[in-house]
Amino acid sequence: MGIKDVVPNEVGIEMYGLISRLYPICRSITGDGLRETLNIIREYIPLEMHEVPSGTKVFDWTVPKEWNIRDAYISHSNGERIVDFQKSNLHVVNYSSPIKKRISLAELKEHLFTLPDQPEWIPYRTSYYKESWGFCLSHNQFLELKDEEYEVCIDASLKEGHLTYGEYYLQGTTEDEFLISCHVCHPSLCNDNLSGIALATYLAKHLTALSLRYSYRFLFIPGTIGSITWLSLNEDRVSRVKHGLVVAGVGDSGKFTYKKSRRGDAEIDRAAIQILKESGDDYEIIDFFPYGYDERQYCSPGFNLPVGCLMRTPQSRYPEYHTSADNLDFVKPEFLEDSFSKYLAVVNIIEENRRYVNQNPKCEPQLGKRKLYERIGGQREMAVDQLALLWVLNMSDGAHSLLDIATLAQLPFGKLQSAAHLLREKMLLREI
Ligand SMILES: [Zn+2]
Repeated sequence: MGIKDVVPNEVGIEMYGLISRLYPICRSITGDGLRETLNIIREYIPLEMHEVPSGTKVFDWTVPKEWNIRDAYISHSNGERIVDFQKSNLHVVNYSSPIKKRISLAELKEHLFTLPDQPEWIPYRTSYYKESWGFCLSHNQFLELKDEEYEVCIDASLKEGHLTYGEYYLQGTTEDEFLISCHVCHPSLCNDNLSGIALATYLAKHLTALSLRYSYRFLFIPGTIGSITWLSLNEDRVSRVKHGLVVAGVGDSGKFTYKKSRRGDAEIDRAAIQILKESGDDYEIIDFFPYGYDERQYCSPGFNLPVGCLMRTPQSRYPEYHTSADNLDFVKPEFLEDSFSKYLAVVNIIEENRRYVNQNPKCEPQLGKRKLYERIGGQREMAVDQLALLWVLNMSDGAHSLLDIATLAQLPFGKLQSAAHLLREKMLLREI
């Protein structure tokens, strides 16, 4: 009956498959890796591609030059590569300027980044808004470097071009929108960036087949500059966004975390919290703070949109974050599937959270003569269903939504949703 009852089979395995396809691509906030990623997503959903020219003013920011990279390495003077972009795209500081020269170890060291605490892992580093170059490598590899001359080469270009982003709009029966936003700008990192992309893609694909009250807008954008650009280009339409979620970090084994919108008590905040409460799993709720993913832009004071972030372990709270260890072993189909079903359950609440008016408000209507006992009788959960009917009837005064009633009654939203459907069939409720 409800949206949440139709979680597709093996969706976690399919999401993992998409992550595996996208993993090798060297993405950045602009460039061909980002385009290739969006083109692959277009095989799943009909994404609209947007190209915004470098130099475009977007609020206090400017769309940067476009970065593309073909190859990069550090080699011995005999040509043997010791750090090779072809083996891991994390080896190059993302957005590095092109360079090709011979260099001493002392000078080279000023451009090298490692993680002494995690000596096996390669860190992920960027330099978007300051032109520089650098390499990332494991600390163990760094310790093996001898005092000799090296050749460094970054065969990249940083030129006037475009910032690319993808948008998929799914029309519902109202113009009010539910925004789902994910970042698509990280190279080979699975939980950070690819898990969100996979969830947004499969959620969009799934919702496409359903008839929905809200219109859904899915954004696949480079972090920070992408949301700033989208908000700047769509300022006149932003007020249509009634609910929103930033999707990130949904493939790791950690417990769920919901970061509230800046408003703190928006319907999306209450729906996400309700789902986590009902799940029976361990979870954490955190208040909004102005750091993290693109909720920072959506929740800036000039917009203050009702956009939260539903994730598993928050960024920077796991050691693998922004390192080569955020790989295909770090995310698992079962966690992706669990995340998908929680997102779908939140969508279900938002779609079904309606206000009704009891059409028989003077004393309780006689449920027996309307066969409402028979409809639910004989089941072990009868008592709860009975209670759900009574709660919905009593609180449906036009002021309380089903989610309000779920909170008051401390009953699962789905029970009240089923009760409301039954009562509507019996003409005991009218939607307002
Ligand atoms: Zn990140």
